[in-house]
Parts: sequence; structure tokens; C-alpha cells
Amino acid sequence: MQLCDHRFWRAEQAGVCSGFGGMAKVHYTEEELRSRLTKEQYRVTQEAGTEPAFANEYHENTEDGVYHCIVCDEALFSSENQFNSGTGWPSFDAPISNDKIENRTQRKWFITTVENVCANCDAHLGHVFSDGRTTTNARYCMNSASLNFVPKAEIPAGANDRADEMETSPN
Ligand SMILES: [Zn+2]
Repeated sequence: MQLCDHRFWRAEQAGVCSGFGGMAKVHYTEEELRSRLTKEQYRVTQEAGTEPAFANEYHENTEDGVYHCIVCDEALFSSENQFNSGTGWPSFDAPISNDKIENRTQRKWFITTVENVCANCDAHLGHVFSDGRTTTNARYCMNSASLNFVPKAEIPAGANDRADEMETSPN
């Protein structure tokens, strides 16, 4: 994978990096990622793979905590937004905040899908569907391989305060 300078990325723009804007993206070398990710984590996050339904780590997880990006460790989803969709993948009705996730619309024939990548590092996470199965109308269908779950008991107190502030003042 080529390193790409996304320093002028605009987070609010969906799609491919425009080359102009504000937010920096984190990049890693292929060598580093191959050494610290499992084969499955690499395939899913770097090659937009999909792990098998039901045969993955978090689809039935009911613990309280936060799901971080496996590649860059950014906090992406809270267990508060997780629900059992019956699909066999961890499913959420919303991310921790909208700017953590980037949507990329893909059209193939008559089918439109929306891919989700980590806004911080471009790791492939999964897809979001608007099929009316949640109160937000969004169903984020994620790969466990893209996520690292940190149980609530292991989250430092300061991090909790910050998460609470983010919930009450979305900016
Ligand atoms: Zn990331």
C-alpha cells in the first residue's frame, strides 16, 4: 500500500480524499501493519475484507465498554449503541461521534452500499445500512477484526469524563 498524504483531508466530505481541507490522517507502513495485525485483521482493515458471520469475536458481546480501531486505537463505538441484529456481526445504531467514521458510497449495478472506514486512519470497518431496524435508522454492521474492545473497567476515569462531554455537546 502506498503512503498517501491526507493532511488536507476534510472530515465532513464523504468519498475519496480531496487533497484540500483540514484534518490529518494517520498512516502506517505495510510492514508495520503486517507485523502487528493478524492475517484476518490485515485482510479486513487494509483490503476491505469481510470476516465470517457469527465466527467472530464481538457479535455476541454484551459487556460495557468501548470499541477502538484495531489499527490506530481511535475510540469508534460504545457498547451503549450495540444491539443484537441477528446478522452475526457486531452492530451499532450510531458511532461514538459522527466524525469518527467516514462513509464511502459505492455503486455496483443497481445496488448502492455505504462502506465505513476509520476517519483517522482509513481502516475498513464494515458497512452502514438504513433499513429501519434501529431508532436512528442506521445499522452499522462492523467486522470484529477491525475492532479492539476495551471493557469499561479498564477505561481510565479521565477518558470517561471526555466521553461524557462528547455526548452532551456534540461538536
Ligand atoms: Zn483507525
